[in-house]
Amino acid sequence: MNDHASPSASHSSPSKHEADIFESTASFDSLGLPAPVLRGIKEMGFDKPTLIQAKLIPAVLAGKDVLGQAKTGTGKTAAFGLPLLAMCDPTVPFQALILAPTRELAVQIADEISELGRHGKVTVDTVMGGERIKTQAHRLKKGANIIVGTPGRIMDMAERRLYHFDNVKFSVLDEVDRMLDIGFREDIRRILDRCPKDRQTMFVSATIAGEIEKLARKFMRDPEKIVTSGASLTVSMVEQHYLSVNPWDKKKLLLHLLTHEEPAMTIVFCRLKKNVDMLAKYLGDKKIEVHAIHGDMRQGKRNKVIKQLRDGSLTVLIASDLASRGIDAEGVSHVINYDLPEDPDLYVHRIGRTARAGRHGVAWSFVTPAQGGLLTNIEALINREIPKMDYPDFVPSPKPESWRDEGPGGGPSFPTGPEAPKVNRFDAAVNPEIPAATETAAVDSSKFPGGVVPTKMPPKRMMGRIPSSRR
Ligand code: ADP
Ligand code: MG
Repeated sequence: MNDHASPSASHSSPSKHEADIFESTASFDSLGLPAPVLRGIKEMGFDKPTLIQAKLIPAVLAGKDVLGQAKTGTGKTAAFGLPLLAMCDPTVPFQALILAPTRELAVQIADEISELGRHGKVTVDTVMGGERIKTQAHRLKKGANIIVGTPGRIMDMAERRLYHFDNVKFSVLDEVDRMLDIGFREDIRRILDRCPKDRQTMFVSATIAGEIEKLARKFMRDPEKIVTSGASLTVSMVEQHYLSVNPWDKKKLLLHLLTHEEPAMTIVFCRLKKNVDMLAKYLGDKKIEVHAIHGDMRQGKRNKVIKQLRDGSLTVLIASDLASRGIDAEGVSHVINYDLPEDPDLYVHRIGRTARAGRHGVAWSFVTPAQGGLLTNIEALINREIPKMDYPDFVPSPKPESWRDEGPGGGPSFPTGPEAPKVNRFDAAVNPEIPAATETAAVDSSKFPGGVVPTKMPPKRMMGRIPSSRR
């Protein structure tokens, strides 16, 4: 992709991107980690620490509780995992408890920490749903030092007396804002209340809103807050655009993008599981090789799909938000928000599935006329304007007679809340009846974060094909 609507990302120097992620002035050797751990780091191919690693690791080794906020794909797992490997006593079972929101993420965290710790004696195991209790119980008898789990199964195993919190010296919440939101909050409270009071705590995420931080602090002792995300929550290596589309044309536009741009490996996010299934069928019928993942699928199938994603052997994955947080697959070149998320934080996590560890990535978001407010809320959160991408090749269809209008999130109609702009710059853009020039006239400058207002029309079309990074 060369002649692109994006003003900056792909043309600025690599050092700028590097500075976004890595701490060039530090080395792993200077962080206070023991030799076997340093060997593991080297064998993983990590040359220098990321910003969050350089700051968080010494603070944890000094015994502090930490609340860490760093961009997606910047090595938060190793930031909390490495000091655990350094500090856990291999003779004490269940010393560290790491909680994550999904089984897939729990496995990934356990795998990465095991790999980093392969030259030491500290052991790691998982406790999560989707696997037989008997199998897990058998493994837990070995008494791994670090347990990575999902909250429900951890509680379950504790109630069955197959796991206990007595030795927990280190507690970690990955994706802390998700772990402390309403769905998990009570489980987390129950779990942390049962852990010894003098433990050390690490909470991390790419997004930590003020409310969540307040709540998080209640579980911590005078935590050091470490924020490395700087002015924007998203990495500069991800080129973000939105595409205006009428809701009835979304499927067609997706098909058009997948066939005309040939992205290397794409995750398409939908809000609802039924949309995931619907889209997978639609694209499958059009002879596109697609895979799907959502929470109603069998665990075996979920694991298989994640494995394919991680080893680069699938091309298009249609996903629910099950896959929006934490999943690390280096080959993901494109993220498409088929349904814009209602929660702006989710946008950050979803597009964070690409452009990881300094790689390049593309994020496209479908925005329907009713969703202008949602997009503006996202821009406000990430502190960036998301430019529009025009696609003149794509011919919008007239509204089908049978079409029932949907709300801004793609579900049933509902009001967008007080922050939603009254003037909507997207109304004109998708209506072929209205000349495109009226779009700029519809911009309400007061609604753009940091006063960034589009002053000229974006380039007419995206040229060329997206280079394939598929191996
Ligand atoms: P985050 O949790 O911040 O989204 P992850 O911990 O999943 O990020 O790490 C993203 C990727 O970067 C992983 O594949 C990980 O192995 C890799 N990684 C972590 N630290 C480094 C480093 N210092 N140098 C190079 N790659 C790293
Ligand atoms: Mg992570």
